[in-house]
Amino acid sequence: MNWLMAHRVAGIAAANLRRRLGLSEGEYVDAFTALELSGLTVMGQDMPNLFGAFVPPQPGRHGGILLNSRMSEATIRHSAAHELGHAEMGHGNCVAEGLDPFASSRGKQWSDEEKQAEAFAAWFLMPIPAVKTALIRLGLDVPREAMDAYQLSLHLGTSYRGTVRHLGSLRMIPPGVGSGWAGIPPARLRAQLCGRRRDLPARVWDLTGLTEGCRLPVDRGDRLIVRAPWLGSSPTFTGPVGVTMRVEPQTVAPGEGAEFDIVDDIATESTLTLTSDSGSERWSVTLMATPPSREGLIASRRPPIMIGPATRAGR
Ligand SMILES: [Zn+2]
Repeated sequence: MNWLMAHRVAGIAAANLRRRLGLSEGEYVDAFTALELSGLTVMGQDMPNLFGAFVPPQPGRHGGILLNSRMSEATIRHSAAHELGHAEMGHGNCVAEGLDPFASSRGKQWSDEEKQAEAFAAWFLMPIPAVKTALIRLGLDVPREAMDAYQLSLHLGTSYRGTVRHLGSLRMIPPGVGSGWAGIPPARLRAQLCGRRRDLPARVWDLTGLTEGCRLPVDRGDRLIVRAPWLGSSPTFTGPVGVTMRVEPQTVAPGEGAEFDIVDDIATESTLTLTSDSGSERWSVTLMATPPSREGLIASRRPPIMIGPATRAGR
């Protein structure tokens, strides 16, 4: 099976699973809710060199998914979607080795099932309507540069390289452009946004009036750059504990907006609102709850079983 065929099969399977689980395809896809609803036993472990595994169900036995809780959230979401793909498409065992699912894609021999599961992960987490919604928030029809793909990946909760690769599959970027973008380290894009090379935040959101009202899957360590000149020179903000407004913004000039750092976890979904000094203008977004920590995203929930008949988990 070639990749084109794998994408066709996986795209249909991903849409079917989203529909069956009642997940929207027009916005961020909650992979953890999908795991919870999947009927599989899901475990998270800190593992040295494995990003996930799948054991198919058998008569009298639940199937199971094992995920590496050490990974970044985007990678865990990708691994979860990959393993859900195996389950949805009725595959056999999968033991996904390595620490970076995107680093090993070149030169690696992929079995038909692995191709399908990889394609499934992309289509499941990045359905076309969700990609288009995120592009509208960025004020774009199609991504023009690597930075657009980076911002898109933040809104979709996907890895930068996985997003670039999927944009190629969607033919939203010309062939050959994606490989150039994929070679750009996200740190360079973060540095470009922050105007410096050192002490960079883990991720940097570039938000404008178009992102007003969005629901953002933020995480501890994120920087939010808000370009909102209509709010005047000294806007005030209200938001959850764990969010601080930078006294000296690095990117926006005085009177051009504000910058926030997510310095701690956000326990429950909260609103972040900026208000102009006159009180007449506002800008707000919804911040999704963050996982308790990146290291223990899954394992710290209720170790070692995260999701199954007796447990529940959020994002
Ligand atoms: Zn696999």
